[in-house]
Amino acid sequence: MGDGNISLQSVLESVVRITEQRSRENLEHCLVSTLIELSGVVFVGIARPLHRSNGTQIECLASAERGRGVLPEAPCAPIEDQPLMARALATGTEVIDTLPNGRECRCLPVMEGDDTAAFLLVESDDGLQSSMGVVRAFVAVYRNYLALLRDSERDTLTGLKNRKTFDNNINRVIAQTRAANSASEDRRQREDDEHHWLGIVDIDHFKRVNDTHGHVFGDEVLLLFAALMRKVFRAEDQLFRFGGEEFVVVLAPTTAERARQAFERLRAAVEGFAFPQVGQVTASVGFVRIEPDDIPSKVVGQADEALYWGKRNGRNRVCLYDDLIAVGELVPHDREGGMELF
Ligand code: GH3
Ligand code: MG
Ligand code: MG
Repeated sequence: MGDGNISLQSVLESVVRITEQRSRENLEHCLVSTLIELSGVVFVGIARPLHRSNGTQIECLASAERGRGVLPEAPCAPIEDQPLMARALATGTEVIDTLPNGRECRCLPVMEGDDTAAFLLVESDDGLQSSMGVVRAFVAVYRNYLALLRDSERDTLTGLKNRKTFDNNINRVIAQTRAANSASEDRRQREDDEHHWLGIVDIDHFKRVNDTHGHVFGDEVLLLFAALMRKVFRAEDQLFRFGGEEFVVVLAPTTAERARQAFERLRAAVEGFAFPQVGQVTASVGFVRIEPDDIPSKVVGQADEALYWGKRNGRNRVCLYDDLIAVGELVPHDREGGMELF
């Protein structure tokens, strides 16, 4: 295929297949296999830039090669190792290069407003002119579909990820914890080991804000609060609006001390911020280490217990579940053989 004889039916079937996908991973696998089948390119890859505190990394989402089909996952690489993508990222436009093996290679950025959400990389051994119409049309379908997926993952008021996205992501985070743990099984757990952490952040006396100043100013506080969260945490930490004036933060692996400092930074930033009309607002945080054998309800439940201990003990404070257990302020639940309530 790929020579202009693509049947309308096969294109429509591909669009149906692509738009049937409900997760990003499936979407990208579907797209690369479709393009290899229909467009006549010899290689197609989809990658995205991850802006991290230590620079931009390129994450390969899916790739396929003619004759080999979908290829195995590739590790992340720094953007400096990917000059074509670096150029596409800098310019926001399609860039072309000729590879040492004579193939033509193009990188098409998939834009989300002013940001590059992903790149499509295509290679052809006979020039890409005849294929590019098909490739660009599928990139447009992909872009529109990504925008829909993104909207469904976000909270409309604050733009943070929503509760549904948390439910979808948390098991993956626990699985990563498990993988990291088995890789370092022989090491004893030490204070300076890095772990994922989950914190629940709840605005103190928020009902009063609404009652005194009205919902519009209440909403403004939520918006500014979310902006403070974005400023305080790193790009690799995940921020969710869990509901109402309650937020969840999943910290990328870090030490206990750094996790505490991050939540403490948020608490202090909120306390020190002058919210228009409302003035000072404070927030309380309960946080807990995510363990390899955890289930989501247990992690959330423990962070919640630490949070409510903080609420009962003065508010405007950051409480680590394990500390409260160690000093006997909280009692661990024996869940062995017990029933999980949610
Ligand atoms: P605490 O310090 O114990 O957390 O007290 P609180 O008043 O913050 O807690 P409570 O759970 O009693 O009240 C939460 C309030 O949040 C109740 C509700 O009116 C308000 N709220 C929930 N969602 C929204 C929203 O989207 N916008 C606004 N403006 N208010 C909201
Ligand atoms: Mg509250
Ligand atoms: Mg609340």
